[in-house]
Amino acid sequence: MKLSRRLGQLAPYLFVEINRKIAEKRARGEEVISFGIGDPDLPTPANIIDKLCSAAREPANHRYPESEGLPQLRQAIAAWYQKRFEVTLDPDTEVLPLIGSKEGIGHMSFCLIDKGEIALVPDPAYPVYGISTQLAGGEPYYLPLKEENGFLPDLDNIPEDILERAKVLWLNYPNNPTGAVAGLDFFERAIAFARKHNLAICHDGPYSEVAYDGYKPVSYLQADGAREVGVEFHSLSKTYNMTGWRVGMAVGNATMIDALKRIKSNLDSGIPQAIQYAAIEALSGPQDAIAQHSRIYQQRRDLVVDVLNDIGCNAIAPKASLYVWAKVPPNYTSMDFAANLLEQTGVMVIPGTGYGPSGEGYVRLSLTLNDASLVKALSKLSGWQDPCNPFKSKH
Ligand SMILES: *Cc1c(COP(=O)(O)O)cnc(C)c1O
Repeated sequence: MKLSRRLGQLAPYLFVEINRKIAEKRARGEEVISFGIGDPDLPTPANIIDKLCSAAREPANHRYPESEGLPQLRQAIAAWYQKRFEVTLDPDTEVLPLIGSKEGIGHMSFCLIDKGEIALVPDPAYPVYGISTQLAGGEPYYLPLKEENGFLPDLDNIPEDILERAKVLWLNYPNNPTGAVAGLDFFERAIAFARKHNLAICHDGPYSEVAYDGYKPVSYLQADGAREVGVEFHSLSKTYNMTGWRVGMAVGNATMIDALKRIKSNLDSGIPQAIQYAAIEALSGPQDAIAQHSRIYQQRRDLVVDVLNDIGCNAIAPKASLYVWAKVPPNYTSMDFAANLLEQTGVMVIPGTGYGPSGEGYVRLSLTLNDASLVKALSKLSGWQDPCNPFKSKH
């Protein structure tokens, strides 16, 4: 058997290496506590699960769903955008439910990219934008996100020949992995840029409801002209602790939504209907869990940031997202820092280079560790006698 060449492009070298180290440690009977995965530890709120259970008992929900989703779900998504962002969407043409936003992000590349074409992709980033570009036969052109630019891409420094072949600009704020946020002024600049160079914009915004210190992230669709050139991907995963149920949405430009619907209707048969009813409950029912969860993450954020700064990292508390993006001490690479930390303390963080070359010099810590593990991890971190790090502050 000979597998496709495109499979060869999927090379998770870094994570293979980290997982091997974790497995070795565990095999020696040593404990490993991971700040790795960005998957909420808190449960899905009870009202949502109750709806899921009752909907699962309805035989009508045992059959194939429609791939464009229940009209009531599309209406609930539009109503949520209206209430949260004052953005008015047509539920029939500007809203498409997804089997998690990852699915829609991946398939969107097949709507926009032909062989040899380019997608402008942030670096570091959630890997799906670049990988799906490659799977569709295109090439990602990486836009470094630098701390001195607030982790926003520098749109003015992209070579002309790249722009001629580019079809789409991917953006993600609040950002994974850097925790950076963007305002409407940035989105409006991106929209003007997209118009000038005939690009589509895909904004990925699953962390708009995970925010701290009273900060309220904006939606890309609030920016002037947003829906003329782009869509926003959103998700119930991080907002309602529903990562396991797989439900998200694409909203915005009707042409792009229709294209995605056409690709998807040939590949999947939609979201199981009981989950769609649970999603309607999540979007339309009580919203108190969101603020409650953000309070919990905020407390964890503050603890994590303090300890990281104590051990010689340079960590700034993010205004939103589930991640602390910390600069490692100057004499370290991301990988060496993460490897030493894991080896010597059993605490795992993700090297920034796992999200792209511009992640060098940083590590990402997720705030989704339960409180008992968090306390244990923080005490291991603060007690770390790192032989390679003279920058550790004394206390
Ligand atoms: C978690 C995450 C997603 C995917 O969410 P699902 O809806 O669960 O597929 C998409 N983008 C980013 C940046 C994420 O961190």
